[in-house]
Amino acid sequence: MTMLADRMSVVKPSPSMAVSQAAKALAAQGIEVADLGLGEPDFNTPSHVIEAAHQAALAGDTRYTATGGAPATKAAVCKKFRRENGLEFSADEVVVANGAKQIIFNALMATLEEGDEVILAAPYFVSYPDMALMLGGRPVVVECAREDGFKLTPEALAAAITPKSKWLILNAPGNPSGAVYTVEELQALGRVLADHPNLMILSDEIYEHIVFDGRAFTSFGKACPELRDRTLIVNGVAKAYAMTGWRIGYGAGPAELIKGMTTVQSQSTTNACSVAQAATVAALIGPQDEVARFRDAFERRRDLVVDGINAIPGLALDAPQGAFYAYVDCSGIMGKTAPDGTVLETDPQVTKFLLDEARVAAVPGAAYGLSPFFRLSTATADEVLTAAISRIRDAVARLR
Ligand code: PMP
Repeated sequence: MTMLADRMSVVKPSPSMAVSQAAKALAAQGIEVADLGLGEPDFNTPSHVIEAAHQAALAGDTRYTATGGAPATKAAVCKKFRRENGLEFSADEVVVANGAKQIIFNALMATLEEGDEVILAAPYFVSYPDMALMLGGRPVVVECAREDGFKLTPEALAAAITPKSKWLILNAPGNPSGAVYTVEELQALGRVLADHPNLMILSDEIYEHIVFDGRAFTSFGKACPELRDRTLIVNGVAKAYAMTGWRIGYGAGPAELIKGMTTVQSQSTTNACSVAQAATVAALIGPQDEVARFRDAFERRRDLVVDGINAIPGLALDAPQGAFYAYVDCSGIMGKTAPDGTVLETDPQVTKFLLDEARVAAVPGAAYGLSPFFRLSTATADEVLTAAISRIRDAVARLR
């Protein structure tokens, strides 16, 4: 008997979770591992946010809310878009779900026909291709070179578009690349998209607050207002407010799409947790000073990792412009032989070598559609990062 549906044959569990599990398994044997696999801030949720959730629960805010988000949550989301992005949305143009991932899933579920193409800029967030595949779509991967700052160029975008193209998924600041587009770069992509009125744009802006070197973030919606009627902006509280476990994401876009996504949600998970929604209101409209503190910490760690990695012969890292990852170019160690005799030919072999020899958990570039690279999460304590880099240096020195 085969228990699982055919569609499961094309999807795989999240590779960053798999790496983390391998690290935890070693830790359970008493072997200390620096887990730089999972992308999750190591800070606590700001206390005023936790307090708001506590008060909401005590006040009886413990029941179903409206499917697409309680009125107060939607109002806070609209306020956030106005204040931070200069964008106006009404309540029927926003939807709240159990994480940004569910927003993306619902959007693809509500729109993809069998065989519709979803254009992805590699290196991409690992869940995009698998969600598209699960829902009958076909990922079309455009590799974005390190020399181009891992950014999608207008030429490459134009070449990827076909009559079957349904979505372009953009993500900036990017996971895993840290790439941030300038307004001009977004507008250049917008000019290509203007010629293809049936193509929708999903802009995943979940790392918007984590930008470095004094950069300003511009939402795709602000850069390309002429595409508003087919743009879905995806965001959430997980990264900006250290709220990964609260599972709140939100989307803003055309009312027809938002309504479809809300219908999907009404027949699957209903509303996002009422208490987490109350916490989200406090996060979005309350004091914002923790956001800047987190960003400063991520920038300091970025510098630490860039300096450390570039001091290792064979590895190279251009300073990420945002997010909290380092996408390390390991082409300089490919072809070398690990102490166990393995000739490093693929980046999964490199990350296995790093786990075995350096006790550092990293995710192979293959998971993000662009090789040979590996991703380190820099959302980790400075001491852990420093120790990890020094162990990577020693391990690389043992390659022959
Ligand atoms: N988009 C990107 C680019 C991400 O990196 C992540 C989290 N790793 C998500 C979405 C998921 O966010 P959430 O936890 O809100 O589902």
